Amino acid sequence: MPSIGQKMDHKTTRARLLALQTELLALSESSAESRKAVDLDQSKMGRLSRMDALQQQAMDKAIEARRRTDLKRIDAALARLEDGEYGYCLKCGDDIAEKRLELNPMATLCTDCASES
Ligand SMILES: [Zn+2]
Repeated sequence: MPSIGQKMDHKTTRARLLALQTELLALSESSAESRKAVDLDQSKMGRLSRMDALQQQAMDKAIEARRRTDLKRIDAALARLEDGEYGYCLKCGDDIAEKRLELNPMATLCTDCASES
């Protein structure tokens, strides 16, 4: 039987995940605006600056895709918290080390399993 207080404070974890989620959503919103602001009208821009703008846009898209992946992982972590499954390795079922969860609250694998894959 696991004793109370052995596991990390889930309220704190939840708050951390929600804060992270809010931050990512805010970043996503502000970058959506700047993506819109990029004017690709060739008549207003030289060829080089147009290429710069396209490159920047591609970079923004990659960053946005990463953010969406992170948001999905946060959602999944919050769902695991609700189900009482948070903090256990999805592969072997062992406890995930607190230090690891502190560094990455979305971690789904223990250090051993993560290093195997
Ligand atoms: Zn494991």
